Amino acid sequence: MARLYLDANATEPMRPEAIAAMAEAMALPGNPSSVHAEGRAARRVLEEARDAIAARFGARGRDLVFTSGGTEANALAIRGLAAGRRVLVGATEHPAVLAAAGPAAGVIPVLADGTLDLAALESALKAAGPALVAVMVANNETGVLHPIEAIAALCQEHGALLHLDAVQMPGRLPFVLGPADSMALSAHKLGGPKGVGALLLRPGLDPTPLLTGGGQESGRRGGTEALPAIAGFGAALACPRPEGLAALRDAIEAGVKALAPEVIIAGGSAPRLPNTTSLILPGAPAETQVIALDLAGVAVSAGAACSSGKVRQSHVLAAMGFGADAACAIRVSLPWNAGAETVARFLAAWAGMRERLGARKR
Ligand code: PLP
Repeated sequence: MARLYLDANATEPMRPEAIAAMAEAMALPGNPSSVHAEGRAARRVLEEARDAIAARFGARGRDLVFTSGGTEANALAIRGLAAGRRVLVGATEHPAVLAAAGPAAGVIPVLADGTLDLAALESALKAAGPALVAVMVANNETGVLHPIEAIAALCQEHGALLHLDAVQMPGRLPFVLGPADSMALSAHKLGGPKGVGALLLRPGLDPTPLLTGGGQESGRRGGTEALPAIAGFGAALACPRPEGLAALRDAIEAGVKALAPEVIIAGGSAPRLPNTTSLILPGAPAETQVIALDLAGVAVSAGAACSSGKVRQSHVLAAMGFGADAACAIRVSLPWNAGAETVARFLAAWAGMRERLGARKR
């Protein structure tokens, strides 16, 4: 039986269109910075992808910096724009943002539903003086969407810069840069290749580069651009957004609740990404659940995928006030190619897992 891959928020399966575009770009011999015909051909592919990606988010190509992924895009924005400003981050941010912000950053709490506490943000902005606020658009573990319009209005009122980690958003819901100053993107969360991303900037904003060198990316990021990956990024983004994922997600949640009413859906009352659910089974360690489902042929994760491959208690769920239950959540994130059969197969595997865990306890 084929495996069931439900870990799209860790990485989406590649879109065939992205693989084709990468193969085509790999056949180009030139460096996009070279002046000869081969270089110019490579440059054309690069600039077409840049313009198309930027346009999708209401930005100009010249305000897009290609990076090695979401982590670098977040670091470039936060480290590159923070001079003279107090950095404020949400409590449920991705480690890429928390690490770039550093231990001195102010942490804004979230409400029990996982959305940013706007009153706390307002107080922090009043106290901070010049500030840079870095928050995610959609949470990678719960799918919870922060109230970005309200956050942007507060930032504007207090003269703060606003950086958005939008890595989990495209490919699932429409979104544009809008009133934000910068926004991080990652290709592998939308069906493109791993290892490429972008930072979008408001016109006129110039972060201090993290990498200097040959002056690529208008001097904002040294290093020869990863042309095949960038071509794949553009092609993946051009694919139609999947429809019907919310209905599949809702059916999974209803099915799990019918089997086990004690299950808690973290952030279930907040606006969320259509493809994500965080299922807490009290008393069942996340790692045990993930391994049991893996053995049954289903790939999910315990909160975030972490680089060491180890499972730890979710700081996101802890920030939402879950206490011991924060160690008992699995994240089910549907990929773009999920279908109607996904629900029944997942529920059968989940029911089997719960049965076995219950049997072990007895
Ligand atoms: N931000 C969020 C919300 C993410 O989910 C991730 C990936 O897990 C990142 C940033 C980092 O992106 P990348 O893997 O492209 O470095």
